[in-house]
Amino acid sequence: MTNQSSAPLILVIEDEAPIRRFLKMALVDQGFAFEEALTGREGLTILASRCPDLIILDLGLPDMDGLNVTKELRQWSDVPVIVLSARGQERDKVEALDAGADDYLTKPFGISELLARVRVALRNASKSSKAVVESNVAFGDVSIDLAKREVKVSGAEIHLTPIEYKLLTTLVRHAGKVVTHNLLLREAWGTGYQAETHYLRVYMAQLRRKLEQDSAHPRHLITEPGIGYRLKF
Ligand code: CA
Repeated sequence: MTNQSSAPLILVIEDEAPIRRFLKMALVDQGFAFEEALTGREGLTILASRCPDLIILDLGLPDMDGLNVTKELRQWSDVPVIVLSARGQERDKVEALDAGADDYLTKPFGISELLARVRVALRNASKSSKAVVESNVAFGDVSIDLAKREVKVSGAEIHLTPIEYKLLTTLVRHAGKVVTHNLLLREAWGTGYQAETHYLRVYMAQLRRKLEQDSAHPRHLITEPGIGYRLKF
């Protein structure tokens, strides 16, 4: 479900007027169509009636918090959601990502950071809406054949353990997006491992050694401190 006009429509749900003004100026300047809501309830109503292409959602709203807005909209919409959090809302941000938000911005943020996140979220959404399951994925020197479960670096096949492979394919499935520790632990180890983020550090270090040219300065397997990891193509 997307809106009909050619410019992507972005819905901003934020009660602070200066931030709404800033977002409106930046987004309209880039040719996006803009819609705003001051409360979570109003935002959900506009989402249902206008079908925006992307939502920018503040976590601290007067009527319901952004986490609950995310949970509610995810029951019936797969619109990309970027959450806005203030310093000190780290846990809220992670919970919103776990509940299905796609990305986050921490206040204060600049225009270029905002626009970069918006473009990535829109690009990911248009890719997944094509509903094509690509069996071949490539980034840097790495190519992955998901059908054959084969991973090559510069054309040479390399061995990944089952856990390493699951972590990699989970990141591939969410390419470009931040994937939380919770989700990675659940996908690779199953339930009951939510506290074991040190497992992830160990296995991500192994993956980087196998896949990155310089594992000390990874270009693709990126750490999101306190939140999770992101695969950058
Ligand atoms: Ca607020």
